[in-house]
Formats: sequence, C-alpha cells, structure tokens
Amino acid sequence: MDFFIPRGECIGERTRAFRRAFFPEASAAEWNDWHWQLRNRVRTFEQFDRMLALSPAERLALQRDGSMLPVAVTPYYMSLLDPANPQQPLRRTVVPTQAEHLRMPGEADDPLGEDGHSPVQGIVHRYPDRVLFLVHDFCPTYCRYCTRSRLVGHGEYSPKQEQLEARIDYIRRTPAVRDVLLSGGEPLSIADDKLDWILTELRRIPHVEIVRIGTKSPAVMPQRITPELVKMLRKHHPLLMSIHFLHPDECTPESATACARLADAGIPLGSQTVLLKGVNDDVATMKRLMQNLLMMRVRPYYLYQCDPISGSSHFRTTVEKGLEIIQGLRGWTTGYGVPTYVIDAPGGGGKIPLQPDYLVGREGGDVVLRNFEGRQYRYPDPRGRGGAAKLEKGRSPRRKS
Ligand code: SF4
Repeated sequence: MDFFIPRGECIGERTRAFRRAFFPEASAAEWNDWHWQLRNRVRTFEQFDRMLALSPAERLALQRDGSMLPVAVTPYYMSLLDPANPQQPLRRTVVPTQAEHLRMPGEADDPLGEDGHSPVQGIVHRYPDRVLFLVHDFCPTYCRYCTRSRLVGHGEYSPKQEQLEARIDYIRRTPAVRDVLLSGGEPLSIADDKLDWILTELRRIPHVEIVRIGTKSPAVMPQRITPELVKMLRKHHPLLMSIHFLHPDECTPESATACARLADAGIPLGSQTVLLKGVNDDVATMKRLMQNLLMMRVRPYYLYQCDPISGSSHFRTTVEKGLEIIQGLRGWTTGYGVPTYVIDAPGGGGKIPLQPDYLVGREGGDVVLRNFEGRQYRYPDPRGRGGAAKLEKGRSPRRKS
C-alpha cells in the first residue's frame, strides 16, 4: 500500500473502492463520521462472507460460538483488508481463525496478572507511581491477539458515572500516583463530554502530573480524531498519547491526517507495536512501519513481545526474532525510529527491556564493543583503566577492524 503524507482531507484509493462496493448508500460525510463507523461495524459471518473470500479456518471460526473475544471490524479498517488473501497481515489480526481456540502450556487469560493488582474495578496499580485506568471495555475493532481478551467486549467495564467516580476517587486518595494511563478497551470510544469530564477530574488532583491515553483509534477508526476532540484534549496538557500501530499498511492518508491533528495540538505521540508472527516479524516490514510513523510525527516507543494470552500461539514469535529485528533497525535507520523491545513479564513483573548484546567484553582498561555492522571497537573505560578487569569468559578480544 502506498504511503504519503496528505495535505488536507483525503481518502485512500482502496478505501474509496471498498466504500463504493459495500456501502454505496453512505455519503462521504457519513463515512467520515465515527458514529457511523461504529454503527456499521462488520460483525456477522454473513457480512464477512460477502466482503472476503473466507478460508476454511476463518469460516469455521466465524461460525463457531464461544471465542473469548468478540468479532468486530470498522468499515474503514475492513477496507484495508485483502479480500483474496487470508494471510495478509492486517487481515490476520482482525479476522479470527480456528487457531485461537488452541490452548498451549504457559498461556493464561490474564498473563500479566492485572486482576491481582486491581484495588478498584477498572484500576490496575502495578507500578509505584502510575496507574492504568480502564475507561471502557469496548473497542471499535477487536484485535485477535489482545492482552485483555478476557475483558474487552463483555460490557463489565463501562463508563457508568459511579464506576468512573470510584476509579477517580482511588487516584485522588493515592498520592503516589503521578501518572494516569487511560486505556481499555478503547478510551476514545466514549463521547467527548464524558472524556472531558474524566480528564478535568484527573487534572483537579494535585499529585497527578501527567495523563496518557492509549488508543488504537488512529489506526482502526481515524475518523474519531475530529477537530472537536482535539480542541478538547489540548485543554488538558500535559497529555501524551500512545498509539497502537502494527503494520505499514495502517499508515494511510486517513491515519496520517488523524496523527497530524493530534501532533498539531501539541500532544506527544508514541507508538506501541506488538511483534506478531506472519504480520510484522521481519526487519523490512518493521523498518517501513517505524519510518512511516516518524513521517506521521509518531515516535516509535515500545515493541512488545506478544503476551502468552490464551489462544495466541499462532501469533507468537521467538524472542530471538525480536532481537534480530532490533538489530536490523539500530544503526540501519534513524535512532528515533528504534523502539524499545520489551517483554511484559508474566505474573505482573512489569516491562523488561531486551536488546542485542553490543558489549563484547573488556580488555585491560578498554571495553570492547560491537557496532551495528558487527565490527569491533574499543573504548577507554575509566572504570577499567589500570584495573584487573578481564574479558568475559569465552569472548575473544579482537582488535578494532
Ligand atoms: S484495540 Fe487494544 S484493547 Fe481493543 S482489542 Fe485491540 S489490543 Fe485489545
């Protein structure tokens, strides 16, 4: 899919053709209205069967009941799917297959142990100075690898006033909390005035220094990023946003317009990407995604190893694959385009960063380093100078090449 930075409003060609074929009655104004996108989500087997040439594995999964996660795709995101190819990366992430009914050892419904760190329904307090505030369990489009598959789409975490007040009250009486991450589900799926109220209440709490919003809307429903939303958000600085992007095919004119509106409002934008087998697990795809994000003024932030969620084995890569991708980015593209690769430790241990080993060892007062091309260099390290530091066992010193 071609990527370019749009000037003003525009619609990708593929999306335009899809709209003509499947929603010919929808006006441009309706298509660009996020409420219309929500009302017309693709949810039933019959709809998928009409819009895609379904594989047997997709057909069975869509006809079978009992998946932990509901199925729904916005018409906009549906327009980005390849109707003929079940292996297309974007299609794999939103159309279920039979593989998600497999259960493998080590998988869990709540692999991060969030439920055990929840002092109040809808709050996860796992780190000392920040909390996760689950606004809502609704998402415009359900990702088949979702870490919160156990929660999203079940209607238990709602933006009801008394539930929101209980969450805000916990933050108010917990002075250690200086950072609140609004997440879900999709926190931007609630109305502007409700979100404005939440942000206003949080801003009234003296110890809350920053608020962050975790969202996938710019990728799956960029129509949500309206001028009115952005005008409201900019009242609540310092406000940061983490946007869930997976693949360069999500970097469309529409998503670029959404990100431009947010960036123009002074909201620092970071990306969160999950490493997924058959979707983005190669250096070329990941490099293209990171470079596109930079052009959209989104700073690559985290690359997550896929959590061991029940039914996700078909999406999980090895850890070596993640390290190989970071090695293929660091030095080979702009440093701003290299995210931090992390494993969110099962059981609630938090994010643990991983990176390829660039420290070869020590020799005398020098550290021996490996650069992005695999060449070795020495650096006179004050700590080792004149000391008895030795090269680590099994690592042979080589001269600068
Ligand atoms: S948008 Fe986020 S919360 Fe919603 S299904 Fe996707 S990963 Fe899960």
